[in-house]
Amino acid sequence: MRANDEATRELIEAIANVVIAHTRELTELDRAIGDADHGVNLERGFKAVLERMDIIAVMPLGKALSEVGLTLIRFVGGASGPLYGKLFVTIGRHVEGARVLSRNTFVEAGEDAIRVLMALGKSDVGQKTMLDVLVPVLDELRSVRGTAVLGLLRRRASSAAQATVPMLARTGRAAFLGERSQGHMDPGARSSELILSAVCHHLESRPGADT
Ligand code: ADP
Ligand code: MG
Repeated sequence: MRANDEATRELIEAIANVVIAHTRELTELDRAIGDADHGVNLERGFKAVLERMDIIAVMPLGKALSEVGLTLIRFVGGASGPLYGKLFVTIGRHVEGARVLSRNTFVEAGEDAIRVLMALGKSDVGQKTMLDVLVPVLDELRSVRGTAVLGLLRRRASSAAQATVPMLARTGRAAFLGERSQGHMDPGARSSELILSAVCHHLESRPGADT
């Protein structure tokens, strides 16, 4: 197996494994302000990704990410399945089209993915969703300079997820709860934090990545 295949496998397995390891926590968060299925939805999707890993790992990174997205669209269900699915597909397409992978590739991919998610979910920042983690982390990636970027991104993801606790849900299932949605972390915000954090950890373990 080539080094690139191994890196692709490690990255995608890291994401899948962290989400699966937090199935119960994500489901409990969704029990408080939703229908108690976010963890099991994502677990089903990422288990399907792991089952397809031998096919996915030999693809170029961009195609592999798109394939992860298509698998999530097929297997996750709920509101989060199409949203996470489109996120991976959109980022995968940018990576596929890039001549070299730079920070700018990921900023542009992230911007495009956020546009797609907002259009699909008819949602915006401040409504207590995964966007309340994805958008601040993208802003941080766009503006931060120097080294130790990955650590900063992880901390931003964590503080942004925490910041959804007092928010009033204004979209998705949790919006039906009105003020009772306050006081709980949004499950999609937490899963986004977990995914972004797994990506940062993976990149930190690769020499020369954090500059
Ligand atoms: P469902 O709400 O259909 O049961 P999940 O429980 O899997 O789906 O996912 C819920 C999460 O999806 C929420 O916590 C929120 O972060 C995210 N979400 C739901 N609806 C939207 C939306 N319209 N835009 C952005 N994110 C959303
Ligand atoms: Mg749910």
